Amino acid sequence: MPGIVIVGAQWGDEGKGKLTDLLAERADVVVRFQGGNNAGHTIVRDGEEFKFHLIPSGILYPGKTCVIGNGVVIDPGVLIEELEGLRRRGIDAGGLRISANAHLIMPYHVMLDTAGEARLGKLEIGTTKRGIGPCYADKAARLGIRVQDLLDAKILRKKIMAALEPKQKMLRPFAKHPRLDLHAMTEEYLRYGHRVEPFIADTAHILWDALDTGGTVIFEGAQGTLLDLDHGTYPFVTSSNPVAGAACVGAGVGPADIDEVWGVAKAYTTRVGAGPFPTELDDELGAYIRERGGERGTTTGRERRCGWLDLVALRYAMRLNRLSALAVTKLDVLAGIDPLNVAVRYRSSEGALLDEFPYHQSVLHGAEAQYEELPGFEAEIGDCRRVADLPREARDYLDFVSEHAGVPVRLVGVGPGREQVIWMGEDARATLRAA
Ligand code: GDP
Repeated sequence: MPGIVIVGAQWGDEGKGKLTDLLAERADVVVRFQGGNNAGHTIVRDGEEFKFHLIPSGILYPGKTCVIGNGVVIDPGVLIEELEGLRRRGIDAGGLRISANAHLIMPYHVMLDTAGEARLGKLEIGTTKRGIGPCYADKAARLGIRVQDLLDAKILRKKIMAALEPKQKMLRPFAKHPRLDLHAMTEEYLRYGHRVEPFIADTAHILWDALDTGGTVIFEGAQGTLLDLDHGTYPFVTSSNPVAGAACVGAGVGPADIDEVWGVAKAYTTRVGAGPFPTELDDELGAYIRERGGERGTTTGRERRCGWLDLVALRYAMRLNRLSALAVTKLDVLAGIDPLNVAVRYRSSEGALLDEFPYHQSVLHGAEAQYEELPGFEAEIGDCRRVADLPREARDYLDFVSEHAGVPVRLVGVGPGREQVIWMGEDARATLRAA
């Protein structure tokens, strides 16, 4: 003990990487439990920027065990590139462990993802086209290729053949693609297997050992609650479950192994790709926030849609994940905007006032955010390190969020740097001490 889950409380890109990095320093194991290389975490360490798509951020600490759990889907080419990148920068990745049960993204998954989005045309979901969705689909169809299959040429070839067969029609536009050739693909993936073999392990066991001997395990979520396949704004969601409950399934532990659930939310809201976004600012102010907040995807470079903080959605995230603490990031981005609007409820297209996040897609699509206006703050806050250093309006903003979301704000981000945070209250420090 303890197990600490970190999840995105909005539509992803909340800055989970930084909180994970801070807690990981004192943790024994950091594990990713869902998603694939559609996630991107940015960590700034001593002025140097690191971007990770698959490897848990904890890898920057020498000797730390970092696990890619069974719930993650792995593009082995991307993983090897990330390993090479670390090697070039002199960082030892010896602590990495990869679940033998994790599923592999195959070339045909990437092609199917691209073809699927093209077929949807204007109705596209806005996937990252990295093959993540088709890979999870194959997992559910029992046609997936797993990490352990890389270690046996005969099994690998047979499984690829079985997986390809039902896709022939959809893959017709790529029929001549050299990476689709059965022999070439098997050889390519065997080479990957050779490279990652030293890292393959029974990762659930590693977590049990750590938890049973009093160690700290950080479960690092990717994407965000409102992108959850079951609970998010379907179909404009990711193809896995980013909610806290999925940490157990995707890593191989039980609910009683989880002691704390931290949600990470920006002081405003962003979303990438299509789908409903009731507090969107489709105007100059939205563009200003995008510019000031550097709101472009780590993985795709796509511009993020920006808007006011949405407390209806945040309350929903609080309950779904049963958050025990909230980290509010990028408060510094709001400096100079006055007044600040915060959505406290929605108004349906029929005029009903909604305090709860609507479960029905048509209601959500027609929902209009209703705001409470709060005074803004002028001063730049990047140098604040204690809550008392913050302008009164910024403190009031945080209190308002905490009260309306129903969860205490324990950490505030005031800039991209690792040290640009404010820990709030004794409990937060206790987590840090324990971790
Ligand atoms: P994640 O996927 O949730 O980890 O989010 P990303 O790493 O994609 O995005 C977070 C970005 O915001 C990174 O570039 C961080 O350096 C930056 N960031 C994190 N916290 C803060 C903060 O409090 N203020 C500012 N200005 N930037 C932050």
